[in-house]
Amino acid sequence: MSTSLGIKLDPRADEPLYRQLFDEIVARIQSGTFPPRYRLPPTRVLARDVATHRNTVVRVYQDLEAAGFVVSRVGQGTFVADAPPAASGDETPVRHGGALPWASLTSRGARAEPLSRGERLGGARRPDTISLSAMHPSPDLLPDDLFRRCLEHALRTQRGKALAYAPREGIAPLRTLVAEDLARQGIPASADDVVITTGSQQALDLVVRTLVNPDDAVLVNETTYHGALSLLAVAGARIIGVPSDDEGPDLAAIERSGRAGAKLLYRMPNCQNPIGCRISQERREALVAWSHAAGVPLVEDDYASDLDLDGSGSLTPLRALDGEVIYFGTYSKKLIPALRIGYVVCPRALRPAVCQMKQAMDLGTSALLQYALAEFLSRGYLAPHLRAVRTEYRRRRDALEEALRRHLPRGVEWKHPEAGVALWIPAPDALDVGALHAEAQRLGVAVSPSTLYEVGGALRHGLRLTFCAEPVSRLVEGARRLGRAWAAVERRGRSAEPPRHIEVV
Ligand code: PMP
Repeated sequence: MSTSLGIKLDPRADEPLYRQLFDEIVARIQSGTFPPRYRLPPTRVLARDVATHRNTVVRVYQDLEAAGFVVSRVGQGTFVADAPPAASGDETPVRHGGALPWASLTSRGARAEPLSRGERLGGARRPDTISLSAMHPSPDLLPDDLFRRCLEHALRTQRGKALAYAPREGIAPLRTLVAEDLARQGIPASADDVVITTGSQQALDLVVRTLVNPDDAVLVNETTYHGALSLLAVAGARIIGVPSDDEGPDLAAIERSGRAGAKLLYRMPNCQNPIGCRISQERREALVAWSHAAGVPLVEDDYASDLDLDGSGSLTPLRALDGEVIYFGTYSKKLIPALRIGYVVCPRALRPAVCQMKQAMDLGTSALLQYALAEFLSRGYLAPHLRAVRTEYRRRRDALEEALRRHLPRGVEWKHPEAGVALWIPAPDALDVGALHAEAQRLGVAVSPSTLYEVGGALRHGLRLTFCAEPVSRLVEGARRLGRAWAAVERRGRSAEPPRHIEVV
């Protein structure tokens, strides 16, 4: 006999049904099959399932509650308790019960070190925490009304097509509009070059899955986007950090690594996350020449495209210099992260493999959201939206910089960010950025320390602060809290130093 809980009861069993039901529910709660707050079926339903009187089930639920396994709420039902009693180890294992050895069952990829960096920073956040760490627009900058209209239009006009699977390379109207949008930014592409992806995170994932075997070397900046490190580590890549200066990556180091056999080089030429620098025109040309000489593809992540805040204009994208460059971008930072829509423009010869990989990974990006975004772009909503967000980001950046100048200890300096939504503050080597992150968190401001982004080798020690996710008043308060945290950690560091006058004999 099978019940609505999936429990099989033996109707011929000679122990009373009450006991079986009680024990089976306890076993499922203790093994985690019924997690905390899981709602048990109403007594009436379960009684019908197991062909017994409702009073028997009521009694089981009452006894489970008395033993602390469940809580019942009047008018709502019976729920597994938040912290039910654990199984004591010496009990005979119950059929189907007991946890499997998950720690030894997880894949090497799931245990890759970068995946746990964020959690290892640890610490509980205060409810009023100001985020100088989130890299997405604050809700007031999201064009919800305009987008709702586009979504409704997509549903009304496309009907079933908007609710079906999309072609693996993305719907044709959106690919055409993205190609036009890229042309505006100086990237020559036709609709046939564009593959729509589920966020640009997936674009990088597809490229890595298509090109990288476990143990292949992948060159990245010595301090780079944490999401890329996670993804490369899951793929089993050997991640090699290349140092850079104000012009871009150190070419001699790249050449050395290239000679040792690298599979690809990943960079964000217009705005390196997290350090915000951009690659000079000369260095871009040198990189393209190196890529051809060494036979190593360049992967260009243009996540902050259109977020040039000072109107200094972007330099020529690598993809515009060379059709062999794999280029990708996203609508997450400049428009709506929840779209999860990005795009990749890859060399023609690589495109079929990337499309097949896309099909294998997710059977296509949401058609509904693609149609809605296509409508948003074709109505010309993007240009005024970009003007508004750029103005607001500029205002926020300037306010944050001014507040940092006021509140950070004298001598702390940073490069004014011309593009993107973050600024990088280098920290002195002696300053423990992990401790600074913890102290800042304790004082109610979230920041991202360099430990999240480092690859090894020559380290860029510092903090990344974003200015997109909070309004001006909270950014200013965030800078004040960070200033207090910075001073406290410096004080602690000084008092831990050995007194200077001790003579070593
Ligand atoms: N690249 C970089 C440099 C990023 O910072 C991010 C997100 N923060 C991404 C790619 C991925 O973003 P999405 O998947 O939302 O497009």
